[in-house]
Amino acid sequence: MSSTIAIIGTGLAGLSAADCLTAAGQAVQLFDKSHGSGGRLASKRSDAGSLDLGAQYFTARDRRFLEAVQRWQARGWVAEWTPNLYNYSAGQLSYSPDEQTRWVGTPRMSSITRALVGALPVNFGCRISEVFRGQQHWQLQDTEGQVYGPFSQVIIATPAPQATALLAAAPKLAGAAASVAMEPTWAVALGFDEALDTPIEGCFVQDSPLSWLARNRSKPGRDGKLDTWVLHASSSWSKEHLDLPKEQVIEQLHGAFAELIGCAVPAPAFSLAHRWLYARPAQAHQWGVLADADLGLYACGDWCLSGRVEGAWLSGQEAARRLLEHLQ
Ligand code: FAD
Ligand code: NAD
Repeated sequence: MSSTIAIIGTGLAGLSAADCLTAAGQAVQLFDKSHGSGGRLASKRSDAGSLDLGAQYFTARDRRFLEAVQRWQARGWVAEWTPNLYNYSAGQLSYSPDEQTRWVGTPRMSSITRALVGALPVNFGCRISEVFRGQQHWQLQDTEGQVYGPFSQVIIATPAPQATALLAAAPKLAGAAASVAMEPTWAVALGFDEALDTPIEGCFVQDSPLSWLARNRSKPGRDGKLDTWVLHASSSWSKEHLDLPKEQVIEQLHGAFAELIGCAVPAPAFSLAHRWLYARPAQAHQWGVLADADLGLYACGDWCLSGRVEGAWLSGQEAARRLLEHLQ
């Protein structure tokens, strides 16, 4: 019987599990529907340089995660980002500095998962549609009908709505995943030929279609000639405008940005929009991982914990820990 463990999803949760399992001498095989790793911790290469369209930065409050981040820092995968932080509320923009350490991947967010993938075996561009069990082992099928396996265990490290169908062999776990609502976020990137005349590098936003904006170029190691900005719409605006054409999303969020930023905002030389359908769980959970250790089926991801980068990493560690515990 094969002892290879299948991991579906090469976001931080899947790669955190892979890292822990390979360190313990286990063989893994990874799958991702995308053509690269990172999931929501991804960057887009564009004419305006690389842009962090998903996670903007992360904090490390758990000691284990902080230790991992410090190892990544020593290898040059991450650096601290110390933006000039502002807050926008009730029509007022105010300087809002704090003592929080914030981390970003260098030279782009996706550097972290690219480094974690390293030489691990991955099937990219492979959307798994079914996870099924024979007498002794697991097999996976993709949307093209191709079957992979046998595998001793399977870790599903996708957002909850995508995990539900893959958990059909364990109805209790599927039910728990199905109970997790995930909210969308529209992201827009703008690039300006001339730097905008503002000291703002990051801003938390209330009472606007936007919830966050960042000067992408202010992060360490970012390239590109343009003054690039990433804008995130709030969950409620994103839900209300889920099917709006991208050009209109750009127009409306550019308008909201120009209204609050407090300086002249010309037409951008570059713009793009990206819709994250499953951006964040509506609520945090304390599950850590969903596991049926006797069956050999596990589900992990940010939605099992805090809905943040740290939660994704911790959940992947928890999946690996539970699996290794069962092997002993
Ligand atoms: P994901 O990153 O979603 O990875 C899941 C992977 O599974 C993906 O690569 C996907 O392609 C793959 N996949 C899905 N279905 C299948 C399938 N059927 N077959 C094969 N592969 C599949 N967190 C912070 O801490 N700070 C922030 O500032 C922050 N900002 C954010 C802003 C936005 C717009 C978004 C969207 C998220 C943000 N987050 C932030 C949240 C953070 O990005 C996530 O918590 C974290 O990256 C989730 O990691 P994950 O591995 O659990 O899931
Ligand atoms: P954090 O401590 O920097 O922020 C947590 C929250 O505290 C912020 O959302 C903000 O409301 C508030 N805050 C923090 N510092 C502030 C300051 N100086 N001035 C004013 N308000 C401040 O980071 P975290 O706890 O690691 O959270 C990560 C961030 O990721 C959050 O902002 C969260 O909203 C964001 N996120 C976004 C999505 C999405 O889909 N858009 C998904 C997951 C997480």
